[in-house]
Amino acid sequence: MRRSPIAAANWKMNLLRADAEAYCRTLLDGLERREGEAAAEVLLFPPFPLLPAVAAGLGGSRVAWGGQDLHPEDAGAHTGDVSGAQLADAGCAWALAGHSERRRDHGESDALVARKVAAALRNGLAPLLCVGETKAERDGGATFEVLGRQLAISLPPLAASGSPPRSFALAYEPVWAIGTGDTATPETAQRAHGYLREVLAERLGEPVATATRILYGGSVKPGNAAELFAGPDVDGFLVGGASLDAAEFLDIIRGCR
Ligand code: PEP
Repeated sequence: MRRSPIAAANWKMNLLRADAEAYCRTLLDGLERREGEAAAEVLLFPPFPLLPAVAAGLGGSRVAWGGQDLHPEDAGAHTGDVSGAQLADAGCAWALAGHSERRRDHGESDALVARKVAAALRNGLAPLLCVGETKAERDGGATFEVLGRQLAISLPPLAASGSPPRSFALAYEPVWAIGTGDTATPETAQRAHGYLREVLAERLGEPVATATRILYGGSVKPGNAAELFAGPDVDGFLVGGASLDAAEFLDIIRGCR
C-alpha cells in the first residue's frame, strides 16, 4: 500500500511578503481546481519573516507550514536564532532539521541536528530530517555509510519520543543534486530510499519504517517528478528552486500520484 505522499516547498532565503501573499493565493486556487487529483500533503517552508504572511494566506486550508531551522533550546540568549516554541506559536506544524545548506553554511553536526529533532518534537512540531551525501562521499563509494551515520546520530530522539510515524519524515537530499540540475536518477533515489527504510526498520522497528514518509530532494522539477515518484520508497519531494513558482510547485504536487 502506498504511503500518503508529501510535497514540500523550501523557499530558502527567497521571496518577499507580497510574493508570499500572491503565492498562497495561486497555490490554494490551484489545489482547489485540481481537487481530487492532488492527494499529497502539501507543506511550505518560508523564511522566518514570511511566516505571518503564510499563516494569513493558508490558515484554515489543507496546506501546513514550517520553519527552515530551529535552535535546540526553547528560549535564551541566542541572537539571530529561532526556537521551536516560537515556530509553534507562529502556527508551524513542521520544522526542517539538518538541511545540507545549514550543515554547509553553519557547520551543523549530526549531534546538533539530533538536538534540533528533539527540540521540534518537544514543541509539538513534526521534524523533517534531511540527510544526504556530498559528491566526494558519493564518488568515494561512501553513500550508505554517510546515510547510516547521519541516521544513527539523529534518530535517537525519534526513537525515544515514540512519535507516530506520521509526525515526522525523512528527506534524502544528495548534496550534489541540490540546486545543481543534476537530479538523482530514479534508480539512485530508490536505492538510497530503500536503504534509509532498512535503517529505520533496524532502529525504530518495521511498522514505523513501513509507515514513515521518505521524501527525495535535489533538483526536482515538474518534468522529473513523476518518474522519481515511481520508486516504491519515494514518498514525495522536498523542492527548492522549482518551488518558488507556485504553478511549477503545483505541477510537482500533481506528480505525486
Ligand atoms: C532543497 O533545498 O531542499 C532542494 C532540494 O533544492 P533544489 O530543489 O533547488 O535542488
